Amino acid sequence: MSATLINPYEAMQARLRVAAQLYGLDDALFKVFMATNRSMIVSLPVLMDNGQWEVFTGYRVQHSTARGPAKGGIRYDLNVSLDEIKALAAWMTWKTAVVDVPFGGGKGGIVCDPNRLSLGEKERLTRRYVAEIMDIIGPDRDVPAPDMGTDAQTMAWVLDTYSMHVRRTENAVVTGKPLGLGGSLGRTEATGRGVLITAREAMQRLGKPLAGATVAIQGFGNVGGQAARLLHEAGARVVAVSDLKGAIKNDRGLDIHALMKHAAEAKTVTGFKGSEPMEPASLLTHAVDILVPAATENQITEHNAAQVRAKIIVEGANGPTTPEADPILLEHGVLVVPDILANAGGVTVSYFEWVQNRQGFYWREREINERLVDYMTHAFQATFATTDKYKTNPRIGAYILALDRVAQAMRYRGFYA
Ligand code: NAD
Repeated sequence: MSATLINPYEAMQARLRVAAQLYGLDDALFKVFMATNRSMIVSLPVLMDNGQWEVFTGYRVQHSTARGPAKGGIRYDLNVSLDEIKALAAWMTWKTAVVDVPFGGGKGGIVCDPNRLSLGEKERLTRRYVAEIMDIIGPDRDVPAPDMGTDAQTMAWVLDTYSMHVRRTENAVVTGKPLGLGGSLGRTEATGRGVLITAREAMQRLGKPLAGATVAIQGFGNVGGQAARLLHEAGARVVAVSDLKGAIKNDRGLDIHALMKHAAEAKTVTGFKGSEPMEPASLLTHAVDILVPAATENQITEHNAAQVRAKIIVEGANGPTTPEADPILLEHGVLVVPDILANAGGVTVSYFEWVQNRQGFYWREREINERLVDYMTHAFQATFATTDKYKTNPRIGAYILALDRVAQAMRYRGFYA
C-alpha cells in the first residue's frame, strides 16, 4: 500500500484496539474511544487577490473532552482530510493524557496549499474559518494551536477574530501566539525541546550519552529545525536533514546554526554549503544512532522498516510510523519513542501558555523549561513503567497509560444518556 493510501484514523484505531485488549478496557469505553465526539465540516468562501472567489473546506474535530477542553493544532495542507483530522484529534487525547495536562483532544485543518496563499489570502481564510467554528471553540471548550502550515501569526488572527465576536480580548482561546499577544516564552522550541528530552532519556536507557550521538532528521520546519538546533547544542552530531525539496548530509556533522540561516533565506535545506545532497528516502535508513521523523504521517512503513539502521526513533511528527512497521522495528531491536510522548513538549508548553493567560501572570523562560523537563521526564518514566508492566512496546505502553487516565475520568463522570 502506498503511504498516501494508509488511513491515519485506521492506524490510530489499530493501536487503540491492541492497547485496549491488553489493558482490559470495557466494551462501552472502547466504543466511545474508537469514535470521535464531534466533527464539524465548514465551507469557506475567500476572495483571492486576483478578484476571484475560492471555496475551501475546513474541519474541526473534538475526539474527547473527558479530561478538559479539547486541545490541538490547525493544519493547512493539501492532504488534509476528515479522517486525518480525526486521527490527529484522537492522538491529542492520548498525548494530553500521557503528559497529564488537563485537556482532551481536538484538531482542525483546511484543505489548501499554504505556500501558494498570499498573506492577505491566508488571513481572510483563517478569519472565515474561525468565524465558522466560533461556537465550538473557546478557552473552556477547545483551544487551537499551530500545526503544519500555520504559525504564530495565524494564531494571532484566530485570537483577534474570536475576540471581535465575543467583544473582549480573549487570549486563552489559542496557544502558540506571538509573545506580545500573550504567547509563552519557550513555546516555539517546545516540541523540539521535548524531542531533545526524550531522546536523552532513550539514550540513557541504552546506557549511552547523547553527546556524540549521530542524528538524522526528516523535516526542517518548526519541530525538525528546533530539534536539530537543540540536539546540536547538546553535543549530538546531526549528519542528515531533509525537507519537501530534498535531503542533505555531512558525516562529520552539519553546522546547524548556519543551516538555519540558509534555510530561512533559501526556504529549503538543499544547496547548503558544507553538505552534499542525498536521496530523501535514504535519510530514513541512514546509519545513525537517532532518527527523528519530523515531517508527516506514514513515512516508516512495512516497505522500509527493515532497512532502518537507527538504534532509536524519536517521533517528532504525528503518525510517522504505520501499524505494519511497528512489529518490524521491534524485531530489529529499534527503540521507538512514540509520537504521543516524543512530540508532547508542544502541548505541554501550550498548557503553560493557557495557564499564564488565565492567571494573567507570566513565567520566566527558565521556569518554563524546567517545568517542561519535569513533565516530559515524568511522562517518559510512566510510559516505560507501563510498557514493562504490560510486557509490550513503548507505543502500546503509552496508549495504555493514556487510556487508563482517560478511562478513569470517564468512569468518574459516567455516561450522560
Ligand atoms: P512545519 O510546516 O513547520 O514543517 C514541516 C517540515 O516537513 C517542512 O520542512 C517540510 O518541508 C517538511 N516535509 C513535509 N513533507 C515532507 C516529506 N514528505 N519529506 C521530507 N520533508 C517533508 O510543521 P511542524 O509544525 O514542524 O510539524 C511537523 C510534524 O510535527 C507534523 O506531523 C505535526 O503534526 C507534528 N507536530 C508539530 C507540533 C508543533 O508544535 N508544531 C507539535 C506536535 C507535533
